[in-house]
Order: sequence, then C-alpha cells, then structure tokens
Amino acid sequence: MNNKCTFCRIPDRELNTKDYFDKMKLWRQFVTEGLMKFKGGDTSLEKFEEEISRELKYTYYHYFECNCGRSIKTGVCIRSSVPIIEYLN
Ligand SMILES: [Zn+2]
Repeated sequence: MNNKCTFCRIPDRELNTKDYFDKMKLWRQFVTEGLMKFKGGDTSLEKFEEEISRELKYTYYHYFECNCGRSIKTGVCIRSSVPIIEYLN
C-alpha cells in the first residue's frame, strides 16, 4: 500500500461538511478518470448532492477503492455537521 498516495488523502484534522462535498466531488472526478473505483453507496455518484438534499434518509454512505489499494468509506448525516471519511483497511 502506498502511504503517499495523493488521490485518496484524507485531511488529518476535524472534518466538516465542506470537506465531505469537496472529497465526494473530487473522488467522483477520479472515478471518471479511472484513478478510483466507486464501490456503491446509498445514492448514485452522479446525483449524490441532489439525493442528499432531499433528506429521505438520515445517513448516506458511499464506498470507494483507490488504485493504491485503499478502501474508503464516506458518510454524511443530515443532522450533523461532522462527516465520516475513513479508510477501511
Ligand atoms: Zn490512494
């Protein structure tokens, strides 16, 4: 595993909602470019902003796999300003 991978880097500080949307948009672009794989989630990647804004669920999770080997989980809770962005392995 490459610890210096810049594609899937997660900020080493308290995360906020902006971090979540920044990373989701960036990683969606990386998926399009073939740098990451989208492994599924509670909404499509293309329309996650729109789906989340409808607030039909309490929490939305998405999973990615970077080409460096890391698996990543993202999550946003509509009642919380602290998102989940974490490595799974
Ligand atoms: Zn990576």
